[in-house]
Amino acid sequence: NLQILLRRRPVGAPVPEDFEIVETPVPEPGEGQVLVRARYLSLDPYMRGRMSDAKSYAKPVALGAVMEGQTAGEVVASRHPGFRPGDIVLGGYGWQRFSVVGPERLFKVPEHDPPLSTSLGVLGMPGLTAWVGLEDIGQPKAGETVVVSAASGAVGQVVGQIAKIRGCKVVGIAGSKAKCDFVVRELGFDACLDHHGDLDAQLDAAVPEGIDVYWENVGGKVQAAVFPRFRDFGRMVMCGMIAQYNEAPGADAAGAPPGPNLGPVVRKRLRIQGFIVSDTGWPRYGAFRAQMEGWIREGRIRWREDVVHGLAKAPEAFIGLLQGRNFGKLVVAVD
Ligand code: NDP
Repeated sequence: NLQILLRRRPVGAPVPEDFEIVETPVPEPGEGQVLVRARYLSLDPYMRGRMSDAKSYAKPVALGAVMEGQTAGEVVASRHPGFRPGDIVLGGYGWQRFSVVGPERLFKVPEHDPPLSTSLGVLGMPGLTAWVGLEDIGQPKAGETVVVSAASGAVGQVVGQIAKIRGCKVVGIAGSKAKCDFVVRELGFDACLDHHGDLDAQLDAAVPEGIDVYWENVGGKVQAAVFPRFRDFGRMVMCGMIAQYNEAPGADAAGAPPGPNLGPVVRKRLRIQGFIVSDTGWPRYGAFRAQMEGWIREGRIRWREDVVHGLAKAPEAFIGLLQGRNFGKLVVAVD
C-alpha cells in the first residue's frame, strides 16, 4: 500500500521534507469494515491544521501516521452487508491507495455521471460546505449583494453560483486575472476582483451599495478591505482564513495580526458566525446531493477541478494549495 505519512510538524509553510512516502502491506478489513481502493484523493486547506498540534476542533495527525484526507474509489473487499466489491464509494480515508473504513461516512456514488472526482468537490465536502453555510448562516435573499473570497476555489465557486441561483448580485475575489475571467465568464458571477491589485478601489467600484453577505475563505488583507463595507444586518460567514494557516500557533492570542475594528458590528447589527461542515453537514448529505445534482442537470451549477496525477505528487500539490497555485478544486488521481 502506497502511503504518505506526516514525518514532522511544519513551522510556517509546509515543505516536502515534512512528509514521507512509504510502501506497506495492504490492510485487511475487520468485521463490519470495508477495504477501499482510492481513485481520487481530495486535498483541502484544513489539512494544514491537522499537521499542527495546536489546539483545534479536531485531533492532529500523529507523527508517523498517514495524512488525513478523504478519498473516492472502489470497494475491493467488504465485511459489511451494505457494501460489495465493485461498489463505487465516497469516504475512503487518508493519503494512501488502500484504506479500511467503517460504514459511518461511506456513501455509494455514481462512477461516471457526474464523474467520480466531483464527489470530492462540487458534490462533496466543499460543495456541502457552501450549501450548509449559505443555508444556515449567509441566507442570501434576492437582490442582495454577496462577496465571496477564494472565489475560483472548491468552496467559493459553489457559494457564488448558489447565491446567483438565489437572485443575488455576486462579486468574487481571486488571485489572478485568469481566475477572475473564469469566475465571471464560466460561473456567471457579476464581477471578480484580483486581490493582488488595489482591492479598496476595486470594491469601491464593484459594490458601491455595500455588502449584505461576505463569505470569508481567506482572512488577512482581503478581510480588512471587505469588512468596513457591510450594510446594516449584514452576515459574515466565517468559513476559513487560509491566508493565516501558516502562521505560528498561538496567533489566536498574542502575535495575532491586527483585525478589523469590531465597532460596526453593533451599529450595523452584523452577524458573524463560524461553522465546521462536519458538525451538521454530513447528516444532510443526501438532501444536499439531490439538490446539487438537480442544479447540475439543469446547467445551473458548473465546476472546475485541478487534477494532479500520482499519489506521490500530493505533498507538492498541497504546498501549492496554501499559496494559491491550484486553479479549481484540487484532487489527486491516485494512479
Ligand atoms: P481553494 O480551492 O479555494 O484553494 C485555496 C485558495 O485560497 C487558493 O487557490 C488561493 O486562491 C487562496 N489563497 C491561498 N493562500 C492565500 C493567501 N495567502 N491570501 C489570499 N488567498 C489565498 O480551497 P477550498 O475551497 O477547499 O477552501 C476555501 C476555504 O474554505 C479555506 O479557508 C478552507 O479552510 C475553508 N473550508 C472550511 C470548511 C468548514 O467547515 N468551515 C470546510 C471546507 C473548507 P487565490 O489564488 O484566488 O488567492
